[in-house]
Amino acid sequence: MPPVLKVHELRKAFGTARVLNGLSFQMRQGEVISLVGSSGSGKSTALRCINFLETPSSGEIEVMGDAISASQNERHETKIVNATNIRVFRRRIGMVFQSFNLWPHRTVLENVTEALIYVLRKGKREADETALSALSKVGMANFGHRYPSQLSGGQQQRVAIARVLAMQPKLMLFDEPTSALDPELVGEVLKVVRTLADEGATILLVTHEMRFAREVSNRMIFLHKGIVEQDARPEELFRNPASEAVKRFLSSVI
Ligand code: ADP
Ligand code: MG
Repeated sequence: MPPVLKVHELRKAFGTARVLNGLSFQMRQGEVISLVGSSGSGKSTALRCINFLETPSSGEIEVMGDAISASQNERHETKIVNATNIRVFRRRIGMVFQSFNLWPHRTVLENVTEALIYVLRKGKREADETALSALSKVGMANFGHRYPSQLSGGQQQRVAIARVLAMQPKLMLFDEPTSALDPELVGEVLKVVRTLADEGATILLVTHEMRFAREVSNRMIFLHKGIVEQDARPEELFRNPASEAVKRFLSSVI
């Protein structure tokens, strides 16, 4: 079976700012990887390139064996090969953002059924069923008729997770899913992430919740200046930080 995700020599520059400088790693099915590193190290950019919300400057991304590659000529113009796979990728990858981005004028249920109906072309009844099952997974099945503004931040984020789950992605990307939440609401969202992990979801998680990352991850990848500085099991990363940068980061967040 091919890896769920393969990232090879991924580079991304914004003008002269080189944000990703040759990022490479792979994820097998069911793996949970936390992507950590200080602010500005390129974590969000990496997730956005994997999902093609940003176009990489160069490198290759493979999702379940289908690849898209980008290369640059000497004038730094990017050429994308197999761009038709972008749609395939988006179907297979679900992304949860720091800001929940729910539609304010749609109910919770409608927020979850929207893509099922308009992207997956499911009928209303089937979409409702799928949405309810996703909502019950995050403990929000009884909130289907509420509007986002009537929910706490933690509840809104759980709905955002249900919206992604309902699409049955092969890979879930989480970009700091709890950092916009009041501290007392962080736990309920992490609990949902843990349940998904326990059920075998393949998850790439950017988080500053290091204790959680340590507990839930099979591997942790430390990003520094747009490159993988260390890719190791959590125990190993904490016991044996590969560089001063990793050591400094760990001592600053714990
Ligand atoms: P992280 O998520 O690790 O904090 P980001 O990937 O958000 O880091 O950002 C890495 C660097 O890339 C930062 O210096 C940021 O300012 C820059 N950057 C990110 N997105 C853009 C953009 N669209 N245009 C210009 N610079 C950007
Ligand atoms: Mg970020």
